[in-house]
Amino acid sequence: MTSRREVIGKLIKGTAVAGSGGLLWGAVGAEALPDETTLRPPGAQEGEAFMKACIKCGQCLEACPYDTLKLATPGDKMGIGTPYFEPRDIPCYMCTNYPCTEVCPTGALDLLQLSREGGEPDIKHAQMGLALIHRESCIAFWGIQCDVCYRACPLMDVAISLEPETNIQTGRHANLKPLVNSDACTGCGICEHVCVVEKAAIKVLPRDLAMGEFGNHYIRSWEAGDEQRIKDIQEKPDKADEDLNSALDYLNDDNDLFEK
Ligand code: SF4
Ligand code: SF4
Repeated sequence: MTSRREVIGKLIKGTAVAGSGGLLWGAVGAEALPDETTLRPPGAQEGEAFMKACIKCGQCLEACPYDTLKLATPGDKMGIGTPYFEPRDIPCYMCTNYPCTEVCPTGALDLLQLSREGGEPDIKHAQMGLALIHRESCIAFWGIQCDVCYRACPLMDVAISLEPETNIQTGRHANLKPLVNSDACTGCGICEHVCVVEKAAIKVLPRDLAMGEFGNHYIRSWEAGDEQRIKDIQEKPDKADEDLNSALDYLNDDNDLFEK
């Protein structure tokens, strides 16, 4: 475990340049903002809210029994002084008592983010990121038997499953391909950590970056209630329409705007 002395040492190292004067803060100003690929500890608030709330105290680092968390230093591009992790190096081992989240004094890491519908916090609800698979470099997609990521996943058969597929080369044997379930993947990165190929074929990215969005124009007829969703949207004008209508009403009303 990282000692307090080491944490403070890292902090001093990370912020020494900044601490030596306003000009130097200016020089590292761009680096104070995190790269969009930065992975945060479990329970982290989203984006800017996290950056505003985190006081860079390093207590989460100190609490982590696996030395997963690092404090960003100049050059890391992770938001100087804030905690992040790199799963290929050390993943989050999903401690069931979430010590990093619990110890945070400001709510930058917030237990509410680990709760669902007012229930107790649960590390299984963490949304640190989402694992994506690069099919071309995943040897399971070539037909070679590999289920290392599947077996390492703390939520095996929930967050990653194996999908059987007929091997077109032999016409007989089934390939077993890993498939990530985005509803259940916490982004702990254990799969990325254990992946056997040279550069991991499964990689965790922040969910915002990893996930697409189908918008409001498509209906999934097989999903109960999806048609109603479209009707609800059509019946409820969006805020921009409301603002435009109210501005037009004002201009069209009998007011004295043009009478002066
Ligand atoms: S849940 Fe455990 S392993 Fe994961 S970052 Fe927090 S303290 Fe470290
Ligand atoms: S404990 Fe909270 S405030 Fe302190 S560095 Fe970690 S996230 Fe930031």
